[in-house]
Amino acid sequence: MTDITTRPGFPTGTIIGYPRIGRRRELKKAVESFWAGTTTAEELEATAADLRATTRDRLANLGLGRTDASIPESFSFYDQVLDAAVTVGAIPSRFAPLADEAGSVDLAGYFTIARGEGDNAPLEMTKWFDSNYHYLVPEIGPETRFRLASDRIVREFEEAKAAGYITRPVIVGPVTFLLLSKASDEAPDGFRPLTRLGDLIPVYQELLSRLAAAGAPWVQLDEPALVSESIDEDRSTVLDAVAATYAALGEVDGRPGIFVAAPYGSLDDALPVLAASPVEALSFDLVRGSVPTGLDAATASGLATKTIVGGVIDGHNIWRGDLEAAFGKLTELLALSPVVAVSTSTSLLHVPHDVDDEPALADQLKSWLAFADQKVAQVATLARGLDDGHDAIQEELSAASAALADRAAAPGVRDAAVRARTEALVPADFSRGEYADRLAAQDAALGLPFLPTTTIGSFPQTGDIRRARAQLAKGVITEAEYLGLMQAEIKRVVDLQEEIGLDVIVHGEPERNDMVQYFAENLDGFAVTQNGWVQSYGSRCTRPSILWGDVSRPAPITVDWSTYTQTLTEKPVKGMLTGPVTILAWSFVRDDQPLGDTARQVALALRDEIADLEAAGIRVVQVDEPALRELLPLKQADHADYLDWSVGSFRLATAGVRDETQIHTHLCYSEFGVVIDAIRNLDADVTSIEAARSRMEVVHDIQTSGFEHGIGPGVYDIHSPRVPSVAEVTELLETALSAIPGRQLWVNPDCGLKTRGYDETVASLRNILEATRAVRSKAGVPA
Ligand code: GLN
Ligand code: ZN
Repeated sequence: MTDITTRPGFPTGTIIGYPRIGRRRELKKAVESFWAGTTTAEELEATAADLRATTRDRLANLGLGRTDASIPESFSFYDQVLDAAVTVGAIPSRFAPLADEAGSVDLAGYFTIARGEGDNAPLEMTKWFDSNYHYLVPEIGPETRFRLASDRIVREFEEAKAAGYITRPVIVGPVTFLLLSKASDEAPDGFRPLTRLGDLIPVYQELLSRLAAAGAPWVQLDEPALVSESIDEDRSTVLDAVAATYAALGEVDGRPGIFVAAPYGSLDDALPVLAASPVEALSFDLVRGSVPTGLDAATASGLATKTIVGGVIDGHNIWRGDLEAAFGKLTELLALSPVVAVSTSTSLLHVPHDVDDEPALADQLKSWLAFADQKVAQVATLARGLDDGHDAIQEELSAASAALADRAAAPGVRDAAVRARTEALVPADFSRGEYADRLAAQDAALGLPFLPTTTIGSFPQTGDIRRARAQLAKGVITEAEYLGLMQAEIKRVVDLQEEIGLDVIVHGEPERNDMVQYFAENLDGFAVTQNGWVQSYGSRCTRPSILWGDVSRPAPITVDWSTYTQTLTEKPVKGMLTGPVTILAWSFVRDDQPLGDTARQVALALRDEIADLEAAGIRVVQVDEPALRELLPLKQADHADYLDWSVGSFRLATAGVRDETQIHTHLCYSEFGVVIDAIRNLDADVTSIEAARSRMEVVHDIQTSGFEHGIGPGVYDIHSPRVPSVAEVTELLETALSAIPGRQLWVNPDCGLKTRGYDETVASLRNILEATRAVRSKAGVPA
């Protein structure tokens, strides 16, 4: 066991975590082939072990120490919160048969909990703080039997040790684990998982003992929930839990040093509690938060005994950034404690692996970027600066400053025409006419029936569609051939909608690989990567675009697709765009100006697109904002500013149209209540939202909020292959009608259909139409 008195100090440079999916998405491929049954669990374990070994070697080569616990052991097969759940034996009872007497599950069982099986729904998935990563929500009740059910963490430490490394095991901390959990199905109403803390702590204590026995000098406990104000728990209860947890963990005999990482924001009132605790090292996210000042004497003297780990390298974003300023922040930390280390602000999970893996990006742009590997090197540089002084890293600091200056002055980063336009904006640019006038004009122009039916935009993306896109990219087919294939697809989709009887027609979005990347590829100011994959959840990765410069629209983007579609039908065709907030949320955004400024530029490009659609005869335009709720900041104090610019940018994009042009928006969730004022302020004529899974619960929020515009609560859960029956849809519509005036109600699925197959889609849409006709005639309206 490590003796506390001789425990080596915390490393001067470290990272909170590293991407685990692999440079070529090796883990994704290995996991998916295991799911498909083409490889065995042993083969998957072997691939994962290789990946971990490669990661350690790479991190050491980039400058992290091999044997000083600076390399975090942050691998996961699927998700780190699920890992914590299976480590402490928190298996929901529907999955209990997967576990042995010791409460442990094998790899297959682990994935079953993540993905569900038959009637057993998987753990719910939700957003990880203000990132685009999604974690699995543990289910905890009075029946949960906590015990150390998996020693995977210990084994991974031993695996590293056998390869000559002393690494730092990482696990989600007990307080965050319980705060991110929800009550199990068995739990009584109002049950709070945090009340089980006393039973959970001994498991973590045992884990610390096991790690100590294996020779781990340090362990990292991730406690990001402490920085969030979106946690539904009384704050003083949370702070008491922190104090109790770390007092108890501190008592473990011969334990490793405890490093509490608190990424995604500032610790605020949790800081005094941690300062008073026995933890030896504490990280501050100095990208989202700042160096704390005005500390009381007790907090100051507590902190002075700890290693303060300055998270100065942005783990969220891909910019090389201002290294000199980062070093300056570390210097400021020296006022708090004589022992300061450097780290990333968050895990590097949120950024791609390596800029050098992007041969197609312009060299100049690349010189401004830092992906995970470049950030590790930056950490190593700053650590050297802390050890050897500023002069020792002068060259690297100057090179980063030169890149920053080059970026600031580069053509395209500031475009005079774009700037002149945003500066000339006046309040009227953000407002449409009175809703009552619009409604009358739209009724006259569109002639839609009672309970108009539509879809959210995409139709199933078939293998043929994906193949055509890939062939175009490879030059196997010409632009003209591609256009022909897509037009044929659009015609099929339009004919199908006509035959089924939908009222507002979509073109199906076959030409779009992704609802954000498609626009990024067609706007100036964006670059797209080849290998810049980032884990979104499980084996799913996205490739965010890089928004590096002022945004403008060199040419119309969707107009030809929409006008072609309108030639195929008399019914109104709905033009389909992605909104400014969502484009920002799902891209890497520039860090050299407020997000609101960037959003306005994107909004103006979309406004031009909408004007062109309108001029070309498109009478309905939908601007999707599924990320509006997702980008809401973690701190309450930041909400007003966020809602101001986000809602403002949507309005700027959509307010240029005539009264008779109908603007729709779509939001991908049902927590309508949380952002109801924002949704109202979007001032869209029609809003579609998710509602099928929650059995229309949302209509009560809509009713009490007095929302008066058109609203389409989804009647078909597109996350499942299930076909809703006519009776089911009828009941949902009747529930909706019991709360919302009929003239406001639209009928649509929960979201786009692109991930669904054709058979289930067609069957579901037919049932939706049949139910709608039944409800219409019951209301005395001709079907
Ligand atoms: N229009 C998009 C689609 O139907 C909307 C997707 C989304 O909301 N995520 O696919
Ligand atoms: Zn959606």
